[in-house]
Amino acid sequence: MQRLEACPVCGGRSLSVFRSANIEAQALTPEDVKITDKAYGKIWGLERCAGCSHVFANPRPTREFIQSLYADIIDPLYQEEAEGRQKNFERILTRLEKLRPDQGPLFDVGAATGILMNMARERGWEPQGVEPSSWAVETARDRYGLHIRVGDFETSEIAKDRFAAVTMVDFIEHIPDPGAALVKAREILRSDGVLCLVTPDINSLAARLAGPRWWHYRPAHLAYFSHGSLRTALNRAGLKILRTRRYAWTFSAHYLLTRVSLLRLLVKNPRLASFWRRVPIKLALGDSLEIYAGKNTS
Ligand SMILES: [Zn+2]
Repeated sequence: MQRLEACPVCGGRSLSVFRSANIEAQALTPEDVKITDKAYGKIWGLERCAGCSHVFANPRPTREFIQSLYADIIDPLYQEEAEGRQKNFERILTRLEKLRPDQGPLFDVGAATGILMNMARERGWEPQGVEPSSWAVETARDRYGLHIRVGDFETSEIAKDRFAAVTMVDFIEHIPDPGAALVKAREILRSDGVLCLVTPDINSLAARLAGPRWWHYRPAHLAYFSHGSLRTALNRAGLKILRTRRYAWTFSAHYLLTRVSLLRLLVKNPRLASFWRRVPIKLALGDSLEIYAGKNTS
């Protein structure tokens, strides 16, 4: 474990305890950090910065340990949920295309099984991406014929000043140094390029109502942004916000039912289960931020 003396967003040194830890690094496996994990409510000790209100895991597991977990993720349920995810990504691409109607090269950070990249390609973008899990990269190759590089975004060699769009959907909350990832995103964007970033909002009504039971409290999340701390992080990386939206996730009814213990009975029967998989539900919790940002050239 590694302890930070300063806030990773603003460098402030006035940190206070936000929530106490209830997990230990040694006990963690790739199962606990996969995208569809059910480890809600399990958290590292969280601290809050008085300067920018950013909440982050402190102390936290080392970068190498986190990378080793993500490299070994196998998550077939993610691919089963492709339909719901497609609806989410369709909304994102539509909004990106309003800001960048001429499309062009797009870089997807944390590309998972390539669902977003595949859709972007069908809409005329030229997608590239990076993803740490070899299982996910192989799935993207087999299913969509996509070539995704295996590895971690911050240290990958990627052409600078090249991309019309960079997408980071549910990525930044998973990494130990969000600032470095935003600087990298700025570097690879061309001057009129747009970054689309989606991340849970710790200041949202849902987060405040759910308290410690908020579904985004999970071991995979090391950083919990609010609109204010995200704006600070983007500005420090030389990016400015163009547009902000609240994000409504679409899942299949099956996915949601399997996550509420009492309702699991409804999906035990395999025929019913396949029915629920085909029922999309848009979950309008609005507890994620969807932010579009451009290079700050002033
Ligand atoms: Zn701060």
